[in-house]
Amino acid sequence: MRIPELFGPGAPVFSFEFFLPKTPEDTATLFGSISELKRLGPAFVTLTYGAAGTARERTVETAGRVKSELGVETACHLTCITHTRSEIADLLRRIRGLGIESVVALRGDPPKDAQAPPPGRRDFGYARDLVGFIRERADFSIGVAGYPEKHPEAPSIEEDVRRLAEKVAAGGDWVITQLFFDNRDYFEFVKEARAAGIRVPIVPGIMPVTGYGQLKRFTNLCGATIPFRMAADLELIKDDPEAVVRYGIEHGAKQCRELLDKGAPGIHFYTLNKSRSTREILRNLRGS
Ligand SMILES: Cc1cc2nc3c(=O)[nH]c(=O)nc-3n(C[C@H](O)[C@H](O)[C@H](O)COP(=O)(O)OP(=O)(O)OC[C@H]3O[C@@H](n4cnc5c(N)ncnc54)[C@H](O)[C@@H]3O)c2cc1C
Repeated sequence: MRIPELFGPGAPVFSFEFFLPKTPEDTATLFGSISELKRLGPAFVTLTYGAAGTARERTVETAGRVKSELGVETACHLTCITHTRSEIADLLRRIRGLGIESVVALRGDPPKDAQAPPPGRRDFGYARDLVGFIRERADFSIGVAGYPEKHPEAPSIEEDVRRLAEKVAAGGDWVITQLFFDNRDYFEFVKEARAAGIRVPIVPGIMPVTGYGQLKRFTNLCGATIPFRMAADLELIKDDPEAVVRYGIEHGAKQCRELLDKGAPGIHFYTLNKSRSTREILRNLRGS
C-alpha cells in the first residue's frame, strides 16, 4: 500500500526514521536496531539523505537494504540544494530500480565547507521545485517537511506555512514535522496549515530524548525549543545517562499519547538508529 493511503481512518500510523550511518560500526548498529524494530511492525520507514561525496551513493544502497530487511515501504529522503536536474533524475531512476515508491523531498542545507549558489542560480531553489520535478517525471508518493516552530530562515510562521502550502500544491502527499516537545506548537501549526488550505496528513516527528548534550546540539541545529520545565528536569539528571533515557521515554510516551488522543494521524519516530526508546514508547502507547 502506498504511504498516503495508510493514513485513512483507523489505527494510527507509526513510522520510523533512520539516519544514514557513516562508519561500518554505525551500519552494524543500524541493522541491529532494525531487526529489533521490525517486530514493532512500522507502517513505513524513512532513511535520511547525505548529500556530500560518497554518502549520495550510500543513501540509495542503504535504502534498498533497509527495504529488503524490513519488508515495508522505505521512503528515501532526497535533498536538492547541491544537485542538478540530471543528477536528481538519475537518483530517482536508481531509487525506483530498487522497488522504492516513496521519497521525502527536501531542499537541504548548504554544505558547511562550501557556498551554495543563491536560489535563482541553482537548478532547485527550494524543496517546492524538487517536489514539482519529481511529480512531473515519476509516480512517487512524496513526503515534505513542516516546521511547527517555523523553519529557522523563515521570517514568520505564517510565511513558512504559505511556503509549505506551495510544496503541497506542487505534489507533496504528506507532511512530516520537525521535532518539537510542546504539543501546543503542533496543534497550532496544524490549525494554520488547514487554514492555508493544506489537506494532506501532517505527521508529528518525535525524537525521544536519549542524552542531554545531544538534545542541545540537535535543537540548536534545527531551531526547536527545549521547554523550560524539560531543561530544568534534565539539568538535575544530566550526569546519569540511564535516568535521562528513562525521562525521554516517559516524556515521549506522554507527548505521543496526547498527540494521538487529539487527532494526530500517527507518529514518525526519529529513532537515531537506536531501538530502546522507540520500542518502549510504542509498547506504552499500544498498552502491551
Ligand atoms: C522531516 C525532515 C526530514 C529531513 N531530512 C533531511 C535529510 O534527509 N537530509 C538533510 O540534509 N536534511 C534533512 N532535513 C533538514 C532540511 O533539509 C532543512 O531543514 C532545510 O534547511 C530545509 O529543507 P526544506 O525541504 O524544509 O526546505 P524548503 O521547503 O525549501 O524551505 C526552506 C526555507 O525556505 C523558505 N522558502 C520556501 N520556498 C520559498 C520561496 N519560494 N521563496 C522564498 N522562501 C522560500 C521556507 O519558508 C524555509 O524558510 C530534514 C528536515 C525535516 C523536518
